[in-house]
Amino acid sequence: MPNRMLTAAERDLAQSLLNRLRADLEDLSSGNPDLLFAYRRKIYKELTYDERGTPAMHKALKRAKYQEQLGLCAICRNPLPERYAVLDRFEAAKGYTVENIRLIHSNCDITTQAERRYA
Ligand SMILES: [Zn+2]
Repeated sequence: MPNRMLTAAERDLAQSLLNRLRADLEDLSSGNPDLLFAYRRKIYKELTYDERGTPAMHKALKRAKYQEQLGLCAICRNPLPERYAVLDRFEAAKGYTVENIRLIHSNCDITTQAERRYA
């Protein structure tokens, strides 16, 4: 299923929110570039976790999927490396849950992403 896209009106609302957030970050940091960097990085990290989950969660999911798939890539069925395998979501908006992911090779992920884009 393709990811939900924003309408033009929704993109305008998102841009307004982003503009307010940037202004708030400028106020919070009072012209201190190091503090602005730290606030920006904190917000970025937390929003990324909201969408993708925490690194600890990913590690646990990878371990569970590796065992469930008997160490084999869900696409090509060849053995997966112990590190650098990719968690692939069937539907991005459903997040990283055991039911919505599979563990695959990085190269198989690149091929799959390209196919999804051209489908
Ligand atoms: Zn593979």
